[in-house]
Amino acid sequence: MKKLVLLGASGSIGLQTIDVVLQHPSDFVITGIGVGRNIPVLKDILSKIEVKYVSVQEEEAAAELKKEFPHISFFHGDEGLIEVLKQADYDVLVNALVGFTGFLPTLYAIEHGKDVALANKETLVVGGELIKKALKKHGRSLYPIDSEHSAIFQCLQGNRRSDLKKLIITASGGSFRKLSREQLKDVTVEQALAHPNWSMGAKITIDSADMMNKGFEVIEAHWLFDVDYDDIEVIMHDESVIHSMVEFRDRSVIAQMGTPDMRLPIQYALTWPDRLELNEEELDLSAIGTLHFRKPDLERFPLLRLAYECGKKGGNLNAVMNAANEEANLAFRQGKIPFLMIEEIVSEAVRSVEFREIRTTEDLLEANNWGREFALEKIRKVNE
Ligand code: MG
Repeated sequence: MKKLVLLGASGSIGLQTIDVVLQHPSDFVITGIGVGRNIPVLKDILSKIEVKYVSVQEEEAAAELKKEFPHISFFHGDEGLIEVLKQADYDVLVNALVGFTGFLPTLYAIEHGKDVALANKETLVVGGELIKKALKKHGRSLYPIDSEHSAIFQCLQGNRRSDLKKLIITASGGSFRKLSREQLKDVTVEQALAHPNWSMGAKITIDSADMMNKGFEVIEAHWLFDVDYDDIEVIMHDESVIHSMVEFRDRSVIAQMGTPDMRLPIQYALTWPDRLELNEEELDLSAIGTLHFRKPDLERFPLLRLAYECGKKGGNLNAVMNAANEEANLAFRQGKIPFLMIEEIVSEAVRSVEFREIRTTEDLLEANNWGREFALEKIRKVNE
């Protein structure tokens, strides 16, 4: 029986993790969860699973919930997430938080001898170096939940790392893949949120539309698999059937395929090296018929190129890029800036910041704050 703490429980990955757990009640139990402000979904979760420790964003909500669920300990705020990790008895942290908020809980779990199943890619984008150091020092493992990285992880099984030539990450291109840059000027939030293949949370769906998400995944792959940026290729693949591939030195390419359903990567991150039954749709290749591939257009998707640049240079650039993107992404969703201004703000933040190495968590927090302030200032000016 594997004991889990699930942070980000009310989001898309969180709910699918609960579904996986409920499909295998003798294999997994969730002992603590963290959610944000979605109290109705939290109550629904608490009607399905029994947990002892819960963290929510707001202090008031925590106090209210305490009255209704007196047998559960409630915490709140970002510190509440850490408090759940302190109190709960668990083997693996499933980190399904969105954004920079996910970094400290990942680090805390590793430093306290736990493995992490990671859906929060921002953890590795902003602080890959610090996380790698901590993993080495504490002898712990990170298991990828991101579908592309789970695919790569699966393709690497039974092969020697020394034979690996490159990683090939597939990209659907998001909701605007058929639009020109000219057409991107006036796109709406509703259009951006309609992803052609995957059903995901709002932030990542926007990150997919401008391919910031794919850029983050390149950086994530670099840290997860210790592969140089020059050996990580992104290829456009419309159908999202191949979740990613690896090429070995004999030119053999191994791909992992499946329906676009996150429950498989979630489950594999928790069961590796074993596989369990999963109640999900069969992949019907004859119904799909044709798979398409093409090179990504880096003029069309400048944030993908920017992520390669920041990844290669390292230092504080990745944290600044991420922070500016979080604010710009949110501002677009709130109708404060047009779609193309996301990339403008993110690129400008990276160009404007003074390069610094990231040696400590404090360095990272500083870079994160700098990127946020820079972006917020730009957003304020637009709305004056
Ligand atoms: Mg992904």
